[in-house]
Amino acid sequence: MAAPETQRIVIDNCAIATVDADDTEHACGHLVIAGGRIESVGAGPAPAGLGDVVRRIDARGHLATPGLVNTHHHFYQWLTRGLATDHHLFDWLVALYPLWARIDERMCYRAAQGSLAVLAKGGVTTTMDHHYVYPRGCGDLSGAIVRAARETGLRFTLARGSMDRSEKDGGLPPDFAVESLDGALAATEETITAHHDASFDAMIQVAVAPCSPFSVSTGLLRESAELARRLGVRLHTHGSETAEEEKYCQQLFGMRPTDYFASTGWLGDDVWMAHCVHMSDADIAAFARTGTGVAHCPSSNARLAAGIARVPDLLKAGVPVGLGVDGTASNESGELHTELRNALLVNRLGAHRAKALNARQVLRMATYDGARVLGRAGQIGSLEPGKLADVVLWRMDTLAHACIADPVTALVFGAAAPVTASFVGGRQIVEDGRLLTVDEDAVARATREEARRLARITAEG
Ligand SMILES: [Zn+2]
Repeated sequence: MAAPETQRIVIDNCAIATVDADDTEHACGHLVIAGGRIESVGAGPAPAGLGDVVRRIDARGHLATPGLVNTHHHFYQWLTRGLATDHHLFDWLVALYPLWARIDERMCYRAAQGSLAVLAKGGVTTTMDHHYVYPRGCGDLSGAIVRAARETGLRFTLARGSMDRSEKDGGLPPDFAVESLDGALAATEETITAHHDASFDAMIQVAVAPCSPFSVSTGLLRESAELARRLGVRLHTHGSETAEEEKYCQQLFGMRPTDYFASTGWLGDDVWMAHCVHMSDADIAAFARTGTGVAHCPSSNARLAAGIARVPDLLKAGVPVGLGVDGTASNESGELHTELRNALLVNRLGAHRAKALNARQVLRMATYDGARVLGRAGQIGSLEPGKLADVVLWRMDTLAHACIADPVTALVFGAAAPVTASFVGGRQIVEDGRLLTVDEDAVARATREEARRLARITAEG
């Protein structure tokens, strides 16, 4: 619930990276939050004579940025971290599907809590969850995930996924882990009806998100695109992740992944895809022409030896690129700072220096461009008057960061900075590194129990 419009929170004396269109920064500035939105931001102290100030924060030694936005994740994988650690994508999937196919409502709820808590503690204020495993009789998984997001207090997009191409149809998942085409579509529409909020300050949105070309039929891909457009929601899937996927698409469909997506209605400014590692110049041009977005997940791509996405080329072409942690079965840390740092460093490997990303480009990917990818750039992703007050205060005056040349460089190149305060729509959810909304020690215990239960159920067959 937003605070009454007249009540103000004033933040003074901090460095500010607004990530607005001009990349405006203030070495020492102020932010005023009123009614859950940013009322003013600028250099020097807050304007005098503001009425109804309920809280004043002296933020000297801090950097204020927009809250980070995570554009790709699979919360349920919280329960299967640290397994199949030496596998590539396809054999990693085949190793883990038997576990994933046994998840239930309680497991999903706890896994979502764990995922959300770690994201929030690391300065993420908006995240998505791409959930595509709905075993028969598993209960209301979407409802459980949304409940966890509401309780943690993050802004959230549930990408309601699906799989209908199992082993018997040449896909990768086992037969018992998939839904029927009609069943998946009906359940996705139900989820949108139950949870999607199109309003400016929405906390919960839903996207349509069949899993990947190698686990979804052509019919489900095509009909998912039609469903999303009929209901006015966004589309998400995995694309061009590995060389094996490219070979698979050539063999099965006679074309490259991007051409296959184009043929099924899957390029457009209402679509974003995870990974996009194996992209030709023509693929990048097609994404740029259509406004299709990308969720760049450098740690997961490294963990599964998928390759290095051509992020500088994507950005140069004008493709919106956000950052994603991906599921924690392929990125055990589950927090987003590592992705900022890895996006910066990994893209310098194997690329000409002139193509390197810089710290400010990476901060933009982690905030404004992430918001664009989720279709929310009008509301979040930069610190500008009128936008929702999703704001993070990073502590920059400790041993870890105090001597790094400037605070944005310190944030991206340095160690993960402590989060002193994180606000979502003006509501504080983190204080001095601790979550205010849920008991993280209880979440740690509960997730451990559910991970053990999943392992036990799977072992019993
Ligand atoms: Zn993924």
